[in-house]
Amino acid sequence: MAGSYDAIIIGAGHNGLVTACYLARAGWKVLVLERRHVVGGACVTEEVFPGFKVSTAAYVNSLFRKEIIRDLRLREHGFEVLERNPSSFSPFTDGRYLLLGSDSAVNRSEIAKFSGRDAENYAKYEAMLERVADVIEPTLVQRPPNLLRPGWRDLWKLFKLGRAFQKMGAGMSEAVEILTGPARTILDRWFESEQVKATLATDAIIGAFAAPSMPGTAYVLFHHVMGETNGKRGVWAYVRGGMGGLTQALARAGKSLGVEVRTEVEVGRILVKDGAAYGVALADGAEIRGRVIASNADANITFNRLLDNRLLPPAFAEAVNRISYDSASMKINVALSELPDFTACPGSQPGPQHRGTIHLCPDQDYIERAYDDAKYGRPSQNPVLECTLASAVDNTVAPPGQHLMSIFVQYAPYKLHEGSWDDLKESFADRCFDIIDGYAPNFKRSVIARQVLSPLDLERVFALTGGNIFQGAMTLNQLFCLRPVPGYAGYRTPIRGLFLCGSAAHPGGGVIGAAGWNAARTILGKA
Ligand SMILES: Cc1cc2nc3c(=O)[nH]c(=O)nc-3n(C[C@H](O)[C@H](O)[C@H](O)COP(=O)(O)OP(=O)(O)OC[C@H]3O[C@@H](n4cnc5c(N)ncnc54)[C@H](O)[C@@H]3O)c2cc1C
Repeated sequence: MAGSYDAIIIGAGHNGLVTACYLARAGWKVLVLERRHVVGGACVTEEVFPGFKVSTAAYVNSLFRKEIIRDLRLREHGFEVLERNPSSFSPFTDGRYLLLGSDSAVNRSEIAKFSGRDAENYAKYEAMLERVADVIEPTLVQRPPNLLRPGWRDLWKLFKLGRAFQKMGAGMSEAVEILTGPARTILDRWFESEQVKATLATDAIIGAFAAPSMPGTAYVLFHHVMGETNGKRGVWAYVRGGMGGLTQALARAGKSLGVEVRTEVEVGRILVKDGAAYGVALADGAEIRGRVIASNADANITFNRLLDNRLLPPAFAEAVNRISYDSASMKINVALSELPDFTACPGSQPGPQHRGTIHLCPDQDYIERAYDDAKYGRPSQNPVLECTLASAVDNTVAPPGQHLMSIFVQYAPYKLHEGSWDDLKESFADRCFDIIDGYAPNFKRSVIARQVLSPLDLERVFALTGGNIFQGAMTLNQLFCLRPVPGYAGYRTPIRGLFLCGSAAHPGGGVIGAAGWNAARTILGKA
């Protein structure tokens, strides 16, 4: 045995690092093992192109818990968020555009360009989502109740949640619709302008293999209004230096607390004896002993690859095998010689149109059709594109005068009906570039270099089963008490001493840190 630790964390994603820091703060001797050359998992900055700091996967933050920032003094360790206002820009081919942000007067006048009724309704719609968020947000930082074997604390938690819903009065049915229903039904009821609805609907499908007309998408929509930046609710931000600015700050906090982090070390197996985990075996065969093992890897990797799943209770193993990793997301990172000059809002010097998320999607039917291709295993003929230009706000991520674009693409189904992503990805990226050029004709000629991450690449690079960006679909049957599987939503597993600490567990995907924090408190017996 090469060494012995109180806890070994498998994976240095942001959640694994959070767990490590909290355990070390409690005086534990902690080792983090990461298979990649860099810590951060899907929340990382990499110099893919010389001189550019690329957020290769996640690209914006708002969900990361403020309690963790405070406890671990992440600002002192270099974490800085850069607010984006406006937060979104949607250009349209008829020459109009829509800017939305945190200024309600500006939102009103922007939306009024498309519909006076929608301009009136927007603030009320946001207030409705916030009322639901008030009920749901506290659950993010709780260990979910055990539905199969409830103890008195589980029953108390369920009672409190029920009470919070009850207090919503007549608003309760709207809240349930948000948690279970299709985004489209809700958006169609609140708004009449397709431009407004398309802008909001793209938030409902990010990372989901679903169209806005499908049940469950309203929850994704709503996930995007939780969180905050500098105390402002629902405001998304860039992290200075790219998303790795957060995970590097966590790594520095960990170091100051005595956490040992080893990169380019892949765990091959979790060692188990008499139903209890006692260490890990590395891919090279070396064994390290740990009193507690916490896995930041997804449930498929943890239970099917790192464990002999015959050690698991059959019902648990079957439930793990039922987890859906359905996914249709692709990421393209692009180095640019200049900013896109949008026909609808001209200018290639940094302007409001460049700061926020750029939605390239004319209407909700466009999203539905894009999904239709994907459900038959074909990349969308006309994909939905969500672009960001962090360099328009953060001058540290690109060389002077040059820019960095992140493009989140849907739908790129992981499971193709024909062909392989290795053969298709460049031509699909070309199609995406043609679409952007249709809105900003200087785009293609400004491209210096690009990195195309197909769903297969997301799986290979970031160890995300099926390329699912959330370590498992965020559908109702895979959330809260049901994540990763019913009866085991409390970070514990059927193997004594083995815990899940990543987004495979509640509250799921997104750079939140809550899974890591809740897992640490569970391990320490404080949750
Ligand atoms: C393309 C993309 C875009 C996204 N955009 C956003 C966004 O803008 N905002 C947002 O909030 N969220 C976004 N997300 C989601 C978010 O990034 C993830 O949900 C979050 O980063 C997951 O963090 P985690 O710590 O739970 O796990 P991960 O980041 O998945 O970390 C798990 C770690 O475990 C390591 N690992 C796995 N197996 C082993 C092993 N055997 N041995 C050692 N190490 C191992 C992996 O290499 C990885 O580093 C995006 C995700 C992707 C992929």
